Amino acid sequence: MSFRLGNVDGRAVLLSGVGVYDLERHSGGKLPSDPMAAVARHADLHGVAAGLTGEGDAKLADVTFAPCVPRPQKIFGIGLNYRSHAEETGVELPANPVVFTKFPSCIVGPTDEVKIYGPTTDWEAELVVVIGARVRDVAKENAWDVIAGLTCGQDVSERTTQFAAKPPHFDLAKSFDTYGPIGPAVVSLDQFDNPADLALTCDVNEERKQDARTSDLIFDIPHLISYLSGICTLEPGDLIFTGTPSGVGVMKGTFLKPGDTVTTTIEGIGTMVNRCVAV
Ligand code: ZN
Repeated sequence: MSFRLGNVDGRAVLLSGVGVYDLERHSGGKLPSDPMAAVARHADLHGVAAGLTGEGDAKLADVTFAPCVPRPQKIFGIGLNYRSHAEETGVELPANPVVFTKFPSCIVGPTDEVKIYGPTTDWEAELVVVIGARVRDVAKENAWDVIAGLTCGQDVSERTTQFAAKPPHFDLAKSFDTYGPIGPAVVSLDQFDNPADLALTCDVNEERKQDARTSDLIFDIPHLISYLSGICTLEPGDLIFTGTPSGVGVMKGTFLKPGDTVTTTIEGIGTMVNRCVAV
């Protein structure tokens, strides 16, 4: 039985049907209320999800979701990881993953506001991998086993800041407060027919900006986990923003402004709607 793990008011919840179920309560106190601890117990969530009864503690439509992984120890971002995006930027396909950091203070929830800190703030819809175990040196063939689930992310990026130094400082430009919306839930891999081939879209207001499939990744999820875990120990709740496809604003000189709405959808995971506001 698959699970969808969310966060409401700082408590881990399971989403099922139209209801939201408090994890600690519906596991009879066996599983934790802290969403970070719940990610680490992802193997036990399947059974709780299968046994849910009743209408739940609240209706999905009535709650505001906090970030499903509120305090990741590490957040990796991968640059230029879709063939389509690498082609539109005109650079050669990278020989190794281009890795940067988003600092965890940028994380917000799936309907939170994004504050526009600069005039060249851009959208980047991304599939986000949620690590589920403390691991090191993971072989590619074992990589799917160390994942708690998948979620949606926006790798919001301020391009002027990004290119204000040489080499560019991706880390800072992508780490302004609120520049890391994730959610709405961590979705277990057994939810998907093929977790390596999911449709991903990004709309700004009513206009479709990005439309791709995750099977277009240059470095796929096993490659990324193997590569990163060969360098540092991965922890439950660590996030990998796997890269964005073509269609970002910088290529056309169009950027986000206060009042815009960014809608990010990934097949089988769900939708985030983030409104842009002035700082
Ligand atoms: Zn990105």
